[in-house]
Amino acid sequence: MVSDALGVGEYVPAPGDAGAAAGAATTGAAAADAATAGATARETFVCLVHYHELGLKGRNRASFERQLNNNIKAALAKRPELCVLGAAPRVRRISGRELISAASYEQALLIADLIRRIPGVAKVSCACVCVREMAAIGDAACRCLQRAEPFASFKVSARRAHTDFPLNSMQINEQVGACLCEQFPEKKVQMRYPDVTVHVEVIEGNAYLYTQSFKGIGGLPAGSAGAVVSLLSAGIDSPVATWQLIRRGARVHALHFSGAPETTDVSVHLVRRIAELLQPTGGLASLAVVAFGGYQRQIALSVPERLRVVFYRRLMYAVACDYAVRVGAKALVTGESLGQVASQTLDNIRATDAVASLPVLRPLIGSDKQEIVNWAEELGTFAISTRSHDDCCTLF
Ligand code: ATP
Ligand code: MG
Repeated sequence: MVSDALGVGEYVPAPGDAGAAAGAATTGAAAADAATAGATARETFVCLVHYHELGLKGRNRASFERQLNNNIKAALAKRPELCVLGAAPRVRRISGRELISAASYEQALLIADLIRRIPGVAKVSCACVCVREMAAIGDAACRCLQRAEPFASFKVSARRAHTDFPLNSMQINEQVGACLCEQFPEKKVQMRYPDVTVHVEVIEGNAYLYTQSFKGIGGLPAGSAGAVVSLLSAGIDSPVATWQLIRRGARVHALHFSGAPETTDVSVHLVRRIAELLQPTGGLASLAVVAFGGYQRQIALSVPERLRVVFYRRLMYAVACDYAVRVGAKALVTGESLGQVASQTLDNIRATDAVASLPVLRPLIGSDKQEIVNWAEELGTFAISTRSHDDCCTLF
């Protein structure tokens, strides 16, 4: 049963109602969303989180989905400004999607901007919710298109998750399209490259409609691939390498070697800022700093200059392996790229690897500096990494 007086999206289940039977859990949750949205709201909004299903096939799928659900909840809990009446937005799973309740369309946009940075998220859409009845879907589509102004052309793209909905995707497209043409006679229907696409997804007990989506960073949910220790300098490469491992599902313990007590603590400050940028991904478990300057001084006093950097690195790797065992990590990560500097020739990489008791992952080994810079800019770490600081490796 749908009560017009309650407004679209506020779904009141009735005994024997097909929608209620199909999605009893969803229905209760949708009602709770509406309550969160406030009694005066006429529409119910959610962020619809799409994830890469290919990576989630097979027996691991349920645990990947659980991990993503937990990571989304944790990211939202750290943003008190997104709370409604003191509570974080509700997160729940429906078939092939995560749903996050929002108090308004504007709040859905803010949530989407946070969630798209979480590994495993392919896309986030800001959607309105309505019951799965064509009249309600048509009304909701009109409001969606209205919100997308200004535009000149549009199309409808429908998808039903299950065949228990009587209309197939093509029929939904036709009926919603007819409704929109009637309401927006001055707009053009255009199948190729329209200004706006009205997406309609019929999933379990409800329909979700949206015109605006944000690309996520993809990959796998942080925490689904075990823990690593990343050697994080304040340079350009290692923040990108760290991010790449986080994106593949690793939980990262960052380890920074500062030049203290021989240098200022500027590099520590910069690494903390880099860590803050990586924090919302949910993949950064910790940041530890080693005061390395004194050890470097000893190496500088006893090792010929041409071998010093390799010795510094060997000591760093040995310390990092010890640390990895302590935190339960199974590999090291570095930002090395083949031939980038003298310490990154194959011979020197081999010499440093010889002290490592764990695998050393180098996600950037085949990347050009410009490619790495582009990633760093996208990530927001480039501006921090180019700030001048005392580097422990060039200290002596
Ligand atoms: P980056 O490679 O991050 O730009 P960098 O250019 O200062 O930093 P490189 O000489 O290229 O450092 O060092 C190769 C790798 O060794 C780094 O990518 C990083 O993983 C590790 N490393 C170097 N210096 C440090 C440091 N001070 N603390 C932690 N790890 C470091
Ligand atoms: Mg480098």
